[in-house]
Amino acid sequence: MIEQLKAELVERAQAGLKRKRRLLQSPQAVHLVADGQRLLSFASNDYLGLANHPDLISALQHAAKEAGVGGGASHLITGHHQFHHDAELSLAGFVGLPAGLLFSTGYMANMGVVAALLGRNDAIFADKLNHASLNDAAILARAELNRYAHQDLVQLEKMLIASTAPRKLVIVDAVFSMDGDIAPLPQLLALCEKYDAYLLLDDAHGFGVLGEQGRGILSHFNVASPRIIYMATLGKAAGVAGAFVAGDTIIIEYLIQSANTYIYTTAGPPALAAALVAAVNVMQNDEARHQHLQDLIAYFKQHLSLKRWQLMPSDTAIQPIVVGGNEAALSLSEYLLTQGVLVPAIRPPTVPKNTARLRISLSAAHTLDDVNLLIQHLHEAEKVLLA
Ligand SMILES: *Cc1c(COP(=O)(O)O)cnc(C)c1O
Repeated sequence: MIEQLKAELVERAQAGLKRKRRLLQSPQAVHLVADGQRLLSFASNDYLGLANHPDLISALQHAAKEAGVGGGASHLITGHHQFHHDAELSLAGFVGLPAGLLFSTGYMANMGVVAALLGRNDAIFADKLNHASLNDAAILARAELNRYAHQDLVQLEKMLIASTAPRKLVIVDAVFSMDGDIAPLPQLLALCEKYDAYLLLDDAHGFGVLGEQGRGILSHFNVASPRIIYMATLGKAAGVAGAFVAGDTIIIEYLIQSANTYIYTTAGPPALAAALVAAVNVMQNDEARHQHLQDLIAYFKQHLSLKRWQLMPSDTAIQPIVVGGNEAALSLSEYLLTQGVLVPAIRPPTVPKNTARLRISLSAAHTLDDVNLLIQHLHEAEKVLLA
C-alpha cells in the first residue's frame, strides 16, 4: 500500500494538485504571520473577528481555572458540564429556537443528525454544492441521496413528487461556502410543507453574519417552523470551536438518545463552552461589530470594478472572484501574496471545473483601509496579469 500511496502523491504533485499547509505563527487575525511572512489576510472564516477577542480569551481562561481542561467523559456519562448546558441555552435562544445541542465539530453534527433521523428506506434531497460533510452524512445514513443542480428548486420539486420514501429530508447550506449565495429559505420551506419533508439548514457561514445581530438565516428571512433542523458551526463567526443543532424539543431529545457522533465521543472542553457564551454576549451587545461587517461587504461590492474577472453575486462575507483556469487562479493568489495580501485560490474538486476562483472572506476585524488596499491590489492584478 505504501508504494501505491507514494505513486499517487507524486502524480498529484505533477498535476499541480498537491496541497500544502501554511504554518501560522500568530493568532488567527486579519494581520497575521504565516510561514514567517507578515500578511493582510482575507482567508479565514473568523467573520466577526472573535477568534482573538479579549472577552473570549478571558472567559476561556477563567473557565479553565474553574473547570479544568479536558471534558473527561462523554455527555451521557459525566462529561456534560454546566458550561455546556449554559451554552446550549444561550445559542438556541440567540437563533430563536426552543432547544439546542452542542457537538464537537460541524462535521460530526451533520453526520450525527442525518444518520440518527434517516435510515435505509428514507430519502435525502441535497443541493449539488452542499458541504462535503452533508454528502458523507448521507452515506453514513445509507439513505437514498438525490442531488439537484445548485439552487434549482424546480428540479427539487420533481424529485420530491417522485419520492415514496417514508422520511424525506431536504439538506442545504444556508450560505454556500464557495459562492457566498444564500439558500431561498421561504421557498424551500414551502416545498417541505407541501411534500411532508423536513429541512436541515447548515448555517456555517450565515450564523454571526446574516440577520439581526448575526442571528443567522432564520432571522434573515424571519422564518420559523418545527420542520426546520438548524445547524451552525462555532469555529467560524463565533470564533471558538464545535457546532450546535437547534430545533423542536422532541428532535433535540431524540438526538441526545440516538446521534452516534454525540453519544460515542468525549464531551468538548467545558471552557470552550464558556467561551461560546462570551461570543454570544459579544454578538448581542456589540451590534456595531456586526454592522461594520455589513458595511465592508457593501463597500467592497460597490468599489471593486473588474473588467474580465467576475465577482460573484453575494451579499455575505464570502466574496468570490471567478477567474476560470486553475493556473490563472493560482497566479492571482501568488501575485497578491507578493503584495503581502493572503487570499486563497480555490480549485476543483472543491469547485466545478473551469470555475477556479479567489475566495475573499471579509471580517469585522478588517478596517476600511484594509479593504481599500485589497481593492487596489485586485485592480492592479488585473492590469498586470491580463496584460
Ligand atoms: C465548516 C463547515 C462545516 C464543518 O464544520 P466544522 O465545525 O469545521 O467541522 C460544515 N458545513 C459547512 C457548510 C461548513 O462550511
